[in-house]
This record gives sequence, C-alpha cells and structure tokens, in this order.
Amino acid sequence: PSITRGVTVEIPKVSWDDIGGLNDVKKKLQQAVEWPLKHSSTFSRLGVSPVRGILLHGPPGCSKTTLAKAAASAAQASFFSLRFLKPHINPILIIFYISGAELYSMYVGEGEALLRNTFRKARLAAPSIIFFDEADVVAAKRGGGSSGSSTVGERLLTTMLTEMDGLEQAKGILVLAATNRPHAIDAALMRPGRFDIILYVPPPDLEGRHEILRVHTRKMKIGNDVDLREIAEDTELFTGAELEGLCKEAGIVALREDISATDVCNRHFEAVMRSLRPALSREDMD
Ligand code: ATP
Repeated sequence: PSITRGVTVEIPKVSWDDIGGLNDVKKKLQQAVEWPLKHSSTFSRLGVSPVRGILLHGPPGCSKTTLAKAAASAAQASFFSLRFLKPHINPILIIFYISGAELYSMYVGEGEALLRNTFRKARLAAPSIIFFDEADVVAAKRGGGSSGSSTVGERLLTTMLTEMDGLEQAKGILVLAATNRPHAIDAALMRPGRFDIILYVPPPDLEGRHEILRVHTRKMKIGNDVDLREIAEDTELFTGAELEGLCKEAGIVALREDISATDVCNRHFEAVMRSLRPALSREDMD
C-alpha cells in the first residue's frame, strides 16, 4: 500500500466562532496564517518574508487541533494532517502513523518519505497548511532517549528541518505543530525561519468556559432552567474537550430519562458534572 495514502487532505469547515475564548490566540493566528496565505504576492512584492512555522503548545483537549483547522478554513487552505506516534513495538524498525481514525505502521525510512511526500503535495496544493499533532515525536530533541528511538527521531527531525528550510522558495505553505511538551522539541526547530511563532494555548478561564458551553449547546434544545454561566463557574479546571463531553452526556442523560424529552435541563447537566473529574490540576492553570 502507498504510504501517502493515509495523509488526509481537506479544507476543514471549522470557523473561529466554533472555538470559545482564546481571543488573543485566535487574533495572532489569524494574522500569521490568513495574511500570508491569502496575500502571498503582496508579501513577496514588499520583500517581507511570511511566517513559516507556528508551534501551539498547551495541555491536551484545549483546542490546538481545532485552532489549526479553523486557520486552514479561514485561509481556504488545504489541510495536511500528520501524527507520528512513539514507536513502541520495535523502536528501530517500525513507527506508527495515525491519520483520522486509521492506524498505519511503517519502516523508519518510510516515515521520512512520508514527510517529504507531504511537503511535496502541500506545495502542489498551495495554499496549504501542514499540521503536526504531537510534534514532540517528529521533532524530538537530539541525543535524548534510548539509542534506537533517538535514531528514528533524528532521521525524522533532519528531514523535517530540510523540508522547512526548503519552504523559503515555496509560496503559501505554513507548518503548524501542536505539542503538550514544548521542552521536548529540538532547539534547531525554534530558530527564526522555522517555528517563528510560539503560542501558548491555555486551559479556558471562566469567560472561555462560558463561551465553550455556548458553542457546544448551540444545536441543543436547552431548558429554561439551564444557566450556562453557573455551569462555567462550577467547572473550573475543565478543558474544552471535557466541556464538550459534558454537553453531549447531558443530552444522553435526558434521553435516557425520557426518550420523548423535549429539552435538556439543569438536572441533566448536574448529574453529569457530579460524575466527572477534570484531568487538569491547579498547577496546569499557572
Ligand atoms: P490534544 O492535545 O489532545 O490533541 P487539542 O488541544 O488539540 O488536544 P482539540 O483536539 O482541538 O484539542 O479539542 C478536542 C475537542 O474539544 C474538540 O472536539 C473541540 O471541539 C473541543 N474544544 C476544545 N477547546 C475548545 C474551545 N475553546 N471551544 C470549543 N470547543 C473546544
């Protein structure tokens, strides 16, 4: 099977409004992504070099992937999404690659070929965004870890550096990467001309949680007794993903209670909240 088969290409349909809170992050991304991708000729006419890479870091479930998709959608850019998982069967021979729900395994050299191929396809489909989820795997610090896994990592990293440097001539291609472990990323990638912008995507504050709850109840029929502000106050430490889960679960509880229910009420939300424990701790909020 072709190793590029699993690279998903799409122009995502996610709008900035689907993301609650994070106004600063959204604004910075908008400028860095939409301007150069939409107006690449103006940039070259003025001799201004656009941003080539942006690293998003922060705890899981706080919308890094969703932000990358919203950026691609706003810029009408093809979205290439890649995610390398840490090899765990045989660190020298096989590396796992997942795209969407599909899981692939491949030999080490194929991982590099996949990277090169993705950049090539992105050049052909420009404007494009290449998104690396769990970027600390493909861009791991050199010299760390066991000898086997560092060999795999170093080869991927070298290919990544070469490809990112090759973007100098390419127009309308941006690399976005997401990680929960920014310190595990090799310093060479942080030099200007590679990941020029580093954005922290924090867990949602009260206002953010309120907006996230609004986003995820938009299409639900909510009872008059539901006060989203109050739920936001009671869900400190919840991530966006957990709040989304809460809304979905509350709907299911309502259905389970009465299959002909007309709306989802406060008691349904409360029942779910009682059973949930947020994954983040207070230290994650600093
Ligand atoms: P991971 O590090 O685990 O990949 P992530 O930071 O990339 O997580 P996403 O995958 O973007 O997070 O978000 C997970 C889910 O949570 C998405 O379905 C998204 O809809 C929801 N979500 C997270 N944050 C927000 C937010 N600020 N507004 C609306 N939905 C959110």
